Amino acid sequence: MRVLLIGGGHTHVVALRQLARNPAPCIDLHLVSSEPTTSYSGLLPGHIAGHWPRETLEIPLEPLCRAAGATLHSTEVVHLDPETRVAMFADGDPFTFDYASLDIGAIAAIDAPQSLASHGIPVKPLGIFADRWSQFLANVSSEATPPHAAIIGAGAAGIELALSMKYHLDSLRLKQRVCVSLIERSNDILPGGNDRLRKPLSKALDRVGVKVRTAASVTDATDTMLRLDSGAQVSACFTALATGAQPYPWLAQTGLTTHEGFVVVDPTLRSVSHPAIFACGDTAHLGYNPRPKAGVFAVRQGPVLADQIGRLARGEALTTYRPQSSYLKLISLGERRALADKWGLTFNLPGLWCLKRYIDLKFMEN
Ligand SMILES: Cc1cc2nc3c(=O)[nH]c(=O)nc-3n(C[C@H](O)[C@H](O)[C@H](O)COP(=O)(O)OP(=O)(O)OC[C@H]3O[C@@H](n4cnc5c(N)ncnc54)[C@H](O)[C@@H]3O)c2cc1C
Repeated sequence: MRVLLIGGGHTHVVALRQLARNPAPCIDLHLVSSEPTTSYSGLLPGHIAGHWPRETLEIPLEPLCRAAGATLHSTEVVHLDPETRVAMFADGDPFTFDYASLDIGAIAAIDAPQSLASHGIPVKPLGIFADRWSQFLANVSSEATPPHAAIIGAGAAGIELALSMKYHLDSLRLKQRVCVSLIERSNDILPGGNDRLRKPLSKALDRVGVKVRTAASVTDATDTMLRLDSGAQVSACFTALATGAQPYPWLAQTGLTTHEGFVVVDPTLRSVSHPAIFACGDTAHLGYNPRPKAGVFAVRQGPVLADQIGRLARGEALTTYRPQSSYLKLISLGERRALADKWGLTFNLPGLWCLKRYIDLKFMEN
């Protein structure tokens, strides 16, 4: 039985770890990844804030594949035909499989303007984003670039990044004044979120001097400046796009049933239209119980996917995945502090940043 894992996302990392510990019988396992490592998103804000080096957030895929007995293909899949069960690799090679799993994440949603698409830096893929941030820091430190940054999109990720960037730039004690702007199209930060989380996050942004501009859309962008629909200009030599998740466009050409471009799956994590195809993490839309796009779901799906592969190999019935209805949100605040949100309550306690670091590092060690 030949199984093709497409994308080195969080689910596939966890599934490979599990298959290394409990190998499934008689499977010919393959992973296609455009990157040699997977960057773990929970640790990205701490890296951007300067608390740990880049290596801390990277999970190398080659040793993981070796341990799980999988072959790693360092390329990307550009097309998938679920009827003939053939994936096309970017280098032109067709690859035939019995089962495939899609865990390719999502890309930053950019609807306008074109200049923002060319000058902004999408937060995903995380590795490329982290590289561009390092380059910006080097330019800022050598005074080649003013320490002016902007983040488009004030969801939880955008807020965490704004606080992290401000913290790091402030800690460099530069001669030039640090300016970090957070721009949000909606009338408030954390659109779709709740007030109990919004209020302390607003306070945190205000306290460290991140300039928040709500009800504001970018109409034009250059290397050094953003123009807003109000006509105002924002100085930005590094513009991060934390504008939400959008599916990879090629998924629409596969014939798989999709919802807003994401692959609709049933509780076994298989495509509702093509049961030989699994989809997980941000790539999947849980049609039976829609959940937000968050790494916690991608991680929890890992053992389920590994289990399904073992069951298929043994000819057993598949199990089902039930996503948790609420989960612990830990949002770092740039400095070594974090906010927690769970059970309808928000906590702002000194030990939460250490708890977040502990959980994230434990994930890396496993
Ligand atoms: C700044 C930030 C902070 C976040 N913090 C949290 C948090 O604290 N908690 C939380 O729950 N969520 C968090 N998230 C959300 C979380 O990052 C995503 O939900 C999670 O990464 C989804 O994992 P995934 O497995 O779907 O795919 P990803 O982790 O996105 O990985 C997909 C991989 O597939 C590769 N790929 C893409 N296309 C192809 C192709 N065609 N062929 C081969 N490979 C391909 C990509 O390069 C990538 O390596 C955060 C997001 C951001 C941006």
